[in-house]
Amino acid sequence: MTVKRDYYEILGVSKTASAKEIEEAYRRLAVQHHPDRVPAEKKDEAREKFKEISEAYAVLSDPNKKREYDTYGHAGIDSHYSQEDLFSGTNFGSIFRDMGFGGSIFEDLFDIFGTHRERSGPRRGADIEVPVKISLEEAYRGVEKDFSIYHTVTCSTCRGSGAKPGTSKKVCNKCKGTGHISSTQDTFFGRFVQSQPCPRCKGKGQIVDIPCEKCFGSGKIKEQTKISVKVPPGVDNGTTIRIKGKGEAGDEGGASGDLYVVVRIAQHPIFVRQGDDLVCKVEIPYPIAVLGGQVEVPTIEGAKLKMSIPPGTQTNKVFRLKGKGMPNLHSSRRGDMYVETIIHVPEKLNDKQKNILREYGKSLGLDI
Ligand SMILES: [Zn+2]
Ligand SMILES: [Zn+2]
Repeated sequence: MTVKRDYYEILGVSKTASAKEIEEAYRRLAVQHHPDRVPAEKKDEAREKFKEISEAYAVLSDPNKKREYDTYGHAGIDSHYSQEDLFSGTNFGSIFRDMGFGGSIFEDLFDIFGTHRERSGPRRGADIEVPVKISLEEAYRGVEKDFSIYHTVTCSTCRGSGAKPGTSKKVCNKCKGTGHISSTQDTFFGRFVQSQPCPRCKGKGQIVDIPCEKCFGSGKIKEQTKISVKVPPGVDNGTTIRIKGKGEAGDEGGASGDLYVVVRIAQHPIFVRQGDDLVCKVEIPYPIAVLGGQVEVPTIEGAKLKMSIPPGTQTNKVFRLKGKGMPNLHSSRRGDMYVETIIHVPEKLNDKQKNILREYGKSLGLDI
């Protein structure tokens, strides 16, 4: 197995490059490495190179794929997308048409990717992103969240065909059922016969004669769907959970897109999270700070914990409680809890207490 190169490195752009910079880098490299622009003996090499830059572009030009790549690297992409899925959302067709490539080159390209030709045949539906707000306690324990989404699903009456049940589609008369319209184009690279999807039937070759009454011929309907998502322990702000097939419906029997649930964690009244660690401040009574003793500290689990304070503890001293932080999303390790002390100065003392303290002050030679 060969080690895959970094997509940013392949396109020669930085990790902070804008969508426009990414597209420009791809166009530049695509002209340079286009298989039809190199001598015969270098074609195989060029095809491989072309495939590599096109894959990098397919991922980095798609916000969802880019995010998965930025978070999980190649593993995130490889485990979620088939080769076909990887390229299906990218509009290579318009890029190459802009650049003046067409005809056989265009067909050859999609042959390289081993995928369907643009616009005809099944197409995957779009992805949906939904934020879900949870508390820090829920992020600690893990939680199951229920919510509804409003999305397109395949029409159950016509099963996505768009035709009224019992009726059939008729052959498109504009393209005579081929789904394509051919035209000749003269470009810088020579003359090409360009084949474009038929605008009337959108490349399908057939049109609906009597539309389905439920979806009005679109094959899809908008619907509310209840979603239940299991949020695992240890999630952080921005953690994304993918639910396969709950995005928008596909076309022509294409798979539905995916639903991405983005976790948002509410601010906690006591704890501040730093990675897997938790930080909190605890007030320590003055006598315990001086003489030492035990104080109760809160934990994310809920139960209070006794913590030993050594004699002579100053304010802002930080104690570490090992393994009392958040669970780690990717391992069984737990973060730590850091407790910062604040020495509490008593505001209301009775006479007896005041006298004791005055005695103490006088013993230090203080004028009180
Ligand atoms: Zn229908
Ligand atoms: Zn047609």
